[in-house]
Amino acid sequence: MDQIISYLIAGGQARAYVAQTTELTAKAMRIHGMSHVATAALGRTMTCAAIMGVQMKNREDRMSVTIKGDGPLGMITVAARSDGSVKGCVQNPFEELMLRPDGKLNVGGAVGMGRMTVVKDLGMKDPYVGTVALQSGEIAEDFAYYFAVSEQQPCAVALGVLLDHGKVRASGGVILQPMPGCSEEVLRFLEHTAPLIADVSSLFNGNTAEEVGKLLFAPIAYERLETYYPRYRCDCERARIQRLLVGLGKKELADMLEKQHGAQVTCQFCNKVYDFDASELEQLMAQAKDI
Ligand SMILES: [Zn+2]
Repeated sequence: MDQIISYLIAGGQARAYVAQTTELTAKAMRIHGMSHVATAALGRTMTCAAIMGVQMKNREDRMSVTIKGDGPLGMITVAARSDGSVKGCVQNPFEELMLRPDGKLNVGGAVGMGRMTVVKDLGMKDPYVGTVALQSGEIAEDFAYYFAVSEQQPCAVALGVLLDHGKVRASGGVILQPMPGCSEEVLRFLEHTAPLIADVSSLFNGNTAEEVGKLLFAPIAYERLETYYPRYRCDCERARIQRLLVGLGKKELADMLEKQHGAQVTCQFCNKVYDFDASELEQLMAQAKDI
């Protein structure tokens, strides 16, 4: 079962998150019918977003990540909540498998260069928004850069998805976060551990999050804190789709009414289809602005 486990290292000198997201990524692959490289890119993004999601304190807190690269996959959008629910999509999910010269999936090439934007809605007046330039498009490196620059919290990030003949074999991630005042000894331990988590998808191949945690932290004093259960879940609803239609403006809705005598909207995250007949569309038109 997918799990995110948080740890305290050396009495709180560092924190760590170990996330297994194999089922989460497999479900996204099924829903979107994605190619290998799209699954790897979205799986990595969803894994880090799931960890950032459960770090938020309140039930209503939510966050989203948008990765806008100039590569063939187009835009990657992921949203996560504090209860572990995550949803995501890739603009061009059917892009062909791209391999690097070493035979690994070329996620960086498929994502390209561009920007990553994180929005956190923590129930304050304004949401927190942080944008950074993509460093490699390999996702983990881009998140590490985001944490260091936007959140002033340097950490080591590893994210990986292992695919085999159209199936997700393993998906997961590890975040190691030194806290202020961390000793030289603990820093050295984290530096020593970073190469071990580099091939993170192999770590999760056959191992649970708990087993990976034991494997990584055995040489040092550590304490297991919380366990969370990430899962793919879409929270779309008719009312939100109605607001989206109203936002299109009178002219666009009038056009739909004339040509299609209604509207059909498919949720980009779960493929649920919402149908609106002519009379419903007329009601929405009455609420829309003249744009
Ligand atoms: Zn949906």
